[in-house]
Amino acid sequence: MAIAIYPGSFDPITNGHIDVARRAARVFDRLVIAIYAAPAKAIVFSVQERVELARQALADLPNVTVEGYGCLTVDFAAEKGALVVVRGLRTNEDLTVEYQLALTNRKIAPDIDTVCFLANPEYSYIHSSAVKEVARLGGRVDDLVPPHVAQALRARFPDAGAKKRGV
Ligand code: ADP
Repeated sequence: MAIAIYPGSFDPITNGHIDVARRAARVFDRLVIAIYAAPAKAIVFSVQERVELARQALADLPNVTVEGYGCLTVDFAAEKGALVVVRGLRTNEDLTVEYQLALTNRKIAPDIDTVCFLANPEYSYIHSSAVKEVARLGGRVDDLVPPHVAQALRARFPDAGAKKRGV
């Protein structure tokens, strides 16, 4: 049984993440979306909220589960019996970051490999940080995230319309 984890902040899950998860779910028998509880960046949704948004987005995939975690990624992978860490590559900048991360993880846990999926060109410009900024300023995010995530963003930034008008 080939088990993989797909770790990240997923704050919130976007159409780009979902595309990578769906493709990885075709390649591996089981895929665990692993949502890191306390990333070193400003977070809009709690880990429980991020888990729930991701669960709803991937609910139709029987071999995909979503869990929060707070330990080393490779330790979480080992706990799940996963030998593969899935990541997505949008740009050269992602490659630089992912390369360094993958080698660090390999040094810590030589049995666990990183497999990167090239971003679908349709979604390769989508970053969670830009999605949050657009939502915060009252812009439309409906083409970037699923409807339930767009709704959660609107609820999180209720005065976004006022900001848009320069108030
Ligand atoms: P992190 O906080 O670790 O960067 P993210 O949640 O932003 O986590 O992303 C998790 C993984 O998904 C990373 O490998 C990232 O490159 C990838 N990813 C993010 N957005 C996209 C996208 N639009 N298309 C493909 N991969 C993506």
